[in-house]
Amino acid sequence: AAGLAAVAPILRDLKMKCDTPLPVLRHVADSMSADMRAGLATNGGSDLKMILSYVDSLPTGNELGLFYALDLGGTNFRVLRVQLGGKEERIIDTEFEQVSIPQELMYGTTEELFDFIVSGLARFVEKESTKFHLAEGSKREIGFTFSFPVKQTSIDSGILIKWTKGFAVSGTAGRDVVVCLNEALVRQGLDIRVSALVNDAVSTLAGAHYWDEDVKVAVILGTGTNACYVESIEAIPKLQGSAYGSGKTIINIEWGAFSTGLPLTEFDREMDNESINPGEQLFEKTISGMYLGEIVRRVLKKMAKASTLFGDSFPEKLSVPFSLRQISFIIEEYILNDWMVIHPCYHETETMTLSTPHLCTMQQDDSGDLDKVGLILSGTLGVKNSSLGARKIVQDICDTIVKRGSRLAGAGIVGILQKVEQDSIGQIFQKRTVVAMDGGLYEHYPQYRHYLKEAVAELLGVEVFKNVFIEHTKDGSGIGAALLAAANSKYF
Ligand code: ADP
Repeated sequence: AAGLAAVAPILRDLKMKCDTPLPVLRHVADSMSADMRAGLATNGGSDLKMILSYVDSLPTGNELGLFYALDLGGTNFRVLRVQLGGKEERIIDTEFEQVSIPQELMYGTTEELFDFIVSGLARFVEKESTKFHLAEGSKREIGFTFSFPVKQTSIDSGILIKWTKGFAVSGTAGRDVVVCLNEALVRQGLDIRVSALVNDAVSTLAGAHYWDEDVKVAVILGTGTNACYVESIEAIPKLQGSAYGSGKTIINIEWGAFSTGLPLTEFDREMDNESINPGEQLFEKTISGMYLGEIVRRVLKKMAKASTLFGDSFPEKLSVPFSLRQISFIIEEYILNDWMVIHPCYHETETMTLSTPHLCTMQQDDSGDLDKVGLILSGTLGVKNSSLGARKIVQDICDTIVKRGSRLAGAGIVGILQKVEQDSIGQIFQKRTVVAMDGGLYEHYPQYRHYLKEAVAELLGVEVFKNVFIEHTKDGSGIGAALLAAANSKYF
């Protein structure tokens, strides 16, 4: 390998290709608006599915009584109960519990998974204290947040298209997940009505809107990413005049599939090619938590091969591709295709490779000798005794990849806002508008938050940006699902 001299041109080229000056951001924002329009016009008309959530009345604040929520979207599920007190008292009390899902259930049968979830729910319901009470003549109702691709068929039904995020449960794809849940409820003798099925972006919007009626958009930035917003019925040609009470509905954009005008590099293309869904979810692959660490690893690998950045010998661990989740995805594909029987030890690869939380830790390191950067390089990539110069370059690369991702996410948000503004001038930009943000990446990565907001400000200009509030809503999702159960209650 050549000396350190070979690093500079690679870094320069990376920065040039990842650059997101205003014209690039504007093109992305405009394309997001255009693709949204195309997806609203016809099914299959765009990368963006623009899925109807069937949530056409958001919680008003008048909701009363005891409601439950169940949230399944990752390796944990959460159950929650809330006592709603109407406009004055709002949320009187709330309790929740989190249960982690044993790995073998992620590869088991539908019945096993739903029985496990319902038994957790049943234990939680049993512990209901006298602080909580059902309204006379009603029975328990629950909102189900289910964050996997679903073809929604009504507010309380939807067909699972496919499992993602490492789940490979047999027999669920193609079935209504509310029916699956109901069957498990019957098997275990738990008398609860499932009143709403939503994804986490939609329940986050509902939860945030409960406290602040100016919330019009919700964005999730975690392992994956998604966004939803409040749309007018007349702006949805593909609905073909179906009757809707309020004139508004929430549209689930599924914005991870967006792909127009993204500034991509050889590293993105390689990662995409080697992923289990090449050519798909390109926006998600550029901006979300599952991928940022992996992109950085690929850059470092190229540099280490071309130079003495990490010493004379190439650290072999730098060649270990993909994060834990990605590896489970691969296992999932195998199972779906009946190619092999999985072996849970694949999960041990988790600690072996660079992930987005590592990037975050490295970027926070402001010590003189960048100790933490050194520790992570040796712990995850097997790079011993990295030089201060090498650590600085690593920090620079993290910043480049995270800056690009977060600024593009910001451009996506502006794309949504300006689409709604174009349809109803003054409704967004001339009054207070709130974008509710949630997800581990947004919550824990300060630089990501900062760059995202900066990009939104650049695109909107100072005056309009004064009216746009990008706010983290913690746990909006759980309460949101319970509120949607209340808003869609059979008893009120
Ligand atoms: P999920 O999206 O899996 O349902 P979360 O919203 O909690 O769950 O997001 C988890 C993701 O957030 C992780 O996969 C990781 O990419 C990202 N993340 C978590 N902690 C951090 C952190 N400290 N810094 C940067 N990213 C983080």
